[in-house]
Amino acid sequence: MDVAALAPLIDPFQRRITYLRVSVTDRCDFRCIYCMSEEMTFLPRSEILNLEELDRVCSAFIAFGVRKLRLTGGEPLVRRNIMSLIRSLGRHRGEGRLDELTLTTNGSQLTKFAAELYDCGVRRLNVSLDTLDAAQFHALTRWGQLDKVMAGIMAAKAAGLRIKINCVALKGVNEGEFDRLVAWCGDHGFDLVFIEVMPMGDLDAASRVDQYLPLSLVRQRLAQRWTLRDIDFRTGGPARYCVVGETGGRVGFITPMTHNFCESCNRVRLTCTGRLYMCLGQEDAADLRAPLRASESNQPLIEAIAEAISRKPKGHDFVIDRDHTTPASPRHMSVTGG
Ligand code: SAM
Ligand code: SF4
Repeated sequence: MDVAALAPLIDPFQRRITYLRVSVTDRCDFRCIYCMSEEMTFLPRSEILNLEELDRVCSAFIAFGVRKLRLTGGEPLVRRNIMSLIRSLGRHRGEGRLDELTLTTNGSQLTKFAAELYDCGVRRLNVSLDTLDAAQFHALTRWGQLDKVMAGIMAAKAAGLRIKINCVALKGVNEGEFDRLVAWCGDHGFDLVFIEVMPMGDLDAASRVDQYLPLSLVRQRLAQRWTLRDIDFRTGGPARYCVVGETGGRVGFITPMTHNFCESCNRVRLTCTGRLYMCLGQEDAADLRAPLRASESNQPLIEAIAEAISRKPKGHDFVIDRDHTTPASPRHMSVTGG
């Protein structure tokens, strides 16, 4: 049953929380080098919120005035029966309580699900694609097949979904691919967003420091080939956008390491185990699984959410520490959900 509308969530710095990102699983069919180790131990199923619990918690946030919901992971589309959750959440969009229901996906399952996603009210997708070179793609994702992802992206386009490509910029890995990605995205009408690699998860920290490539440099190099014009376009997130004169396409840059985007932060993140992170870069979290499981009533959950938002910090504190081997945040991106 849906929760009746509640007073909007406003944090101590007067930021209104309107955007929830939810990791629906920590599992994935890829093992991207910057995200997971090859031998991952996944969480026991009992710790993961079931689909009904995910629906309850998302619906509670929507009652609190959240207008945008993004499902992520791990790979959201490998969770069993995920379409039943997406269809159920789509009701909020159908009834005007939600502006946007969207996903971040690696694209591997899109040939199967694209049309159904559209039918459920999804209109946009973020698809992660770091290279257009099949061998490099396989090396980067360890288990991924580029042709399958390409077919998925084209199925999504054909289904009428708008697509934004996320590309993690990795020094010495996909640096040579950026021009090709700009051209390809321009041809297909996809937005392209470059992301700086972040110090997440207990990977081999030394290699992550090696992978760090500042986007200021990426942009400088792109500007040698393309005419980049800054624009005011914002999606409520940290990306800064420009338009590529030659293609008319948009290219964005997310630079969590070199820029501070906290002042306008309107979002919180829920892990697949029901921990609510008020800030991607800080460890403080609230457990929403206990109140979800404590009672069939949503009251304990509602109180826990309100209390958590009252603790949302002003900003984050990322550092890629070049002298130490511990990541600034020990959480895997696949658990927090990118
Ligand atoms: N599996 C889906 C995907 O890859 O799109 C959704 C989850 S993934 C964790 C979400 C996003 O986080 C992807 O765009 C991925 O490239 C990005 N990501 C993962 N690890 C990262 C890291 N260490 N630094 C920056 N971005 C990262
Ligand atoms: Fe899986 Fe996405 Fe992480 Fe790659 S970035 S391993 S696709 S969760």
